[in-house]
Amino acid sequence: MGDSKPAVHFERIAFIGIGLIGSSLARVIRRQGLADHIAVNARSHETLDTVMELGLADSVSTDAREVVSGADLVMVCAPLGAYASVTKAMAPALREGCIVSDVGSVKEVVFHDIGSQLPADVHLVPGHPVAGTEHSGPEAGFAELFQGRFCILTPNGQADDAAVQKVSDLWTAAGSTVEIMDAKHHDQVLAITSHLPHLIAYTIVDTATELEDTLKGEVAKYSAGGFRDFTRIAASDPTMWRDVFLTNRDAVLDVLGRFTEDLTALQRAIRRGQGEKLYDVFERTREIRRGVIEHGQEVPPAPPEKD
Ligand code: NAP
Repeated sequence: MGDSKPAVHFERIAFIGIGLIGSSLARVIRRQGLADHIAVNARSHETLDTVMELGLADSVSTDAREVVSGADLVMVCAPLGAYASVTKAMAPALREGCIVSDVGSVKEVVFHDIGSQLPADVHLVPGHPVAGTEHSGPEAGFAELFQGRFCILTPNGQADDAAVQKVSDLWTAAGSTVEIMDAKHHDQVLAITSHLPHLIAYTIVDTATELEDTLKGEVAKYSAGGFRDFTRIAASDPTMWRDVFLTNRDAVLDVLGRFTEDLTALQRAIRRGQGEKLYDVFERTREIRRGVIEHGQEVPPAPPEKD
């Protein structure tokens, strides 16, 4: 950035939770000088010590109230299941005009678990950086994680424009393309693009694990046949994904119902030897792959850096 003015600036950014996503954003903020002070809250002293060692925080505390006190931006980067309790803890200490945002993978729940507990003079701007890896914790983060990715904001018309703009500028500075979307729509889209694929990966790997005894280690040995990619997805954080399915229950059950029907249709085509039907489906799905590449979403995650 040199001497040029940062694209957006905050006096004090408070992180509630700082694992893969929070620490990646903190690295961006540090590197570009986007805040005078970064204050961090997590549950464990171990995480807070790590964050200090990594130089990602100016102050740390296990007390959320202390951390958000005086902050002009609070970024909730904890698992979705912790949203209600962390908000209860921090809400009384939020300063007037403060922006509260988050990075959670499900968005409608934010209005219930965070929004319903906030004072009226605080702006809620929920967000979801559509970027990640299967790794967790502050050491797994890296500043390039959000580059070339989308960040979806779902203010649902409830925050003022200036607050939405500031959060948008922050994600733009991180290298993301910002989209504004209705929270419910976000949850429906992500149910099919992210949540269902994770559920399938967890299922396939679990099924293979149960077969492993019979197949005597051959699953891991020949995993390059497609299984390996599922094992990477199925290595994702269990707490995070448990919370995603519990907080996006309706949308996930809806796409799961459709998926089950389509799977049954393929099962029937295989049993009946309907090669043409199978071929048609596989031909159609190739088009989707081309679309993903055209949208620039086939970018390998950058390797973690040491800073
Ligand atoms: P993570 O690496 O597992 O880190 C979670 C952080 O939250 C840790 O610092 C943990 O602190 C803290 N935490 C947990 N419970 C807490 C509580 N009750 N109070 C305060 N802090 C608490 O998680 P992550 O992968 O960064 O995910 C964080 C959020 O990002 C989730 O909501 C997830 O849906 C969203 N997200 C994740 C991805 C992804 O690919 N991972 C992508 C997009 C969005 P301790 O270490 O002290 O336990």
